[in-house]
Order: sequence, then structure tokens, then C-alpha cells
Amino acid sequence: MKQTKKQGLMSSQFDVMVTSVCNARCAFCVQEATFKPPCGKDAKFLRALRDSFGWFYANGGRRVVITGGESLLEFSRVKAVLAELKQYKDLQVKALYTNGSLLLRRLSKGSSDSAVETLTKAGLGCVNLSVHHYDNEINNALLGLPGKPRTEEIVKHLEACGLPFRLNLTLQRGGISTAGDLIKYVKWGVKLGAKDIYVRELFRFARDINWAAADRDAVAYSNKNHVLVPPMQRLLKKHGFSLLSEQREFLRDKTEWAFTHSPSGTRVYLSSLEIGSESPKGWPYLVLMPDAVLYNGWLGSKCKVTRAMMASVQP
Ligand code: SF4
Repeated sequence: MKQTKKQGLMSSQFDVMVTSVCNARCAFCVQEATFKPPCGKDAKFLRALRDSFGWFYANGGRRVVITGGESLLEFSRVKAVLAELKQYKDLQVKALYTNGSLLLRRLSKGSSDSAVETLTKAGLGCVNLSVHHYDNEINNALLGLPGKPRTEEIVKHLEACGLPFRLNLTLQRGGISTAGDLIKYVKWGVKLGAKDIYVRELFRFARDINWAAADRDAVAYSNKNHVLVPPMQRLLKKHGFSLLSEQREFLRDKTEWAFTHSPSGTRVYLSSLEIGSESPKGWPYLVLMPDAVLYNGWLGSKCKVTRAMMASVQP
């Protein structure tokens, strides 16, 4: 049955962005349209993580995602973050967001462990894998990573490590763009063994965003290639998907629809978000960026979360 839920003042998820650098070349990359903070020193970053995540946890937060850029370009920082998170025993989500290109690599010539085996031993709970098409050639072209291992190969290795994975798909012209494509993608993802599938529209951007320093015009790409979620919903229902909930956030322009695919029971989320719509009246989004500063939005210095702001919210 359909439910409409409201979100609280604070995000239920904390993002730890270990780097804003990426080896991929997605034309729709949000960081190309917003801002890329420089990478500060590890010790300062980990101190900031201790403070800000400790505050988030004390206020009930139990979901954390390590992200980038491409997070695995900062492998030792990812390991240090996982070591820091080990003290929090009851986290519901401890995931790593990645384009998958570096997951299988051996860390050194003599090493028997792959990057992901090492991270599993360090306490990682799940991999959020960006896969924008079931066809590897199209997917790698959208990512701008022609030599990336096939998704099937990556997933086989994750299974061998006992690590669950989520598939992250961005809808777009030139990729998955119709309900028929999406249904095919979901069936493929279910067969691969995905824990769940998260489907996004290309980001919409609030009008006042204009970080022109980037070498890709992600705003123009997103406007031109945007594919809307809502017209797909009726078709999904006809193909064995039942709508579980619709969540409209009230501190930013984000809507998320949760479906169950039967007979597999796999959860499929669809979402749309306007970047830059975050209200200063709360913390609808929380991200520790590579400069060791906690932000509640994508608009740089005006979204910094200060100690005074943190002190005003207590468990
Ligand atoms: S993989 Fe993610 S961070 Fe890297 S270019 Fe693509 S969207 Fe940007």
C-alpha cells in the first residue's frame, strides 16, 4: 500500500567524501556543476570525521556512505575511515560508493588480496556500484572508462567476498531512458544478485548554481538528456512492481519512490532531486568533504556546518 512519509530535520545518512578526484568522465557529474574542495591532510580529515560523525551518531544517525569522486583513488583514507567507524557497532548501512574500475585490482605485486577483499576485512558492509547500463560497452562509454572490468566480473568477485551490493543507475537519453529499458535493467540486476537498485533522474540544478571552472558542462548535459521518473511508474506497476512508499522531503526538493519487484522481492528506489534546494532550517544532507569540513549542501562556503550549529542540535 502507498504511504507518504515526511523526513525529519536531519539527514538519516552521512556521506564521507574521501576525495573529489575521479578517474571517470561522466558528462553528468554533479561535482563538475558544483564545487570540488581540495584534499586536506589525512589527520585533519580523520579528526573532523570523529567530531562530526560522533555528533551525527549521538543524534540517532546510523547510515554512512564513503564516497568521492572515485573513493578508491584514496584507498588508505578509505581504510582509515573504516577503522574509525569500527567503534560504531550498530550501523545499519556502511557502504562504499564506487564506479567499480579499481575494485578488483591487487594492491601490490605480491599481494593476494584485491582492494575489495581488503576493505571487506576492514569492516565494509556493502558496495554501491554505479552502473548506468546493462550493456558493458554503453556503461563504460557513459562513465568514460573504456577499460573498466565488466559488471558481471566485478559482481562475481563481490559475491566471492560475501559483500552485498547495490546498483546505482542514472536515467538519461543515450542510456536507460524508457520504462522498457528500466524493466530490462531491473531484471538483469536481480539476476546478478543486487541487494537493491537505486535509480536517479539526472540532477536538476537550482538556478543560482554556476561553478564555471569545470571542464564538462554537467548542467547543460543534464538539461538536455533528462528523463523523468513519474511517467515510468504506471508501466512499472503493470510489470509486477508494487509501490511501497512515496517520500517527499520538505527541506529540499527531493522525492523518492520505493517499489518491490516480484517475484524476486528486490527493492527498487526511484528518485529525483534538485541540487541547491537545501533549506538552511535543517540538515537534509550531510557530507564531510575532502577539505575536512562538514557541509549541508553543495554550494560551498555558504553550506558549512559550524560547531555552533552542531551544538544547537543535541540528542
Ligand atoms: S563516477 Fe561519479 S564522481 Fe566520477 S565522474 Fe562519474 S559521476 Fe562524477
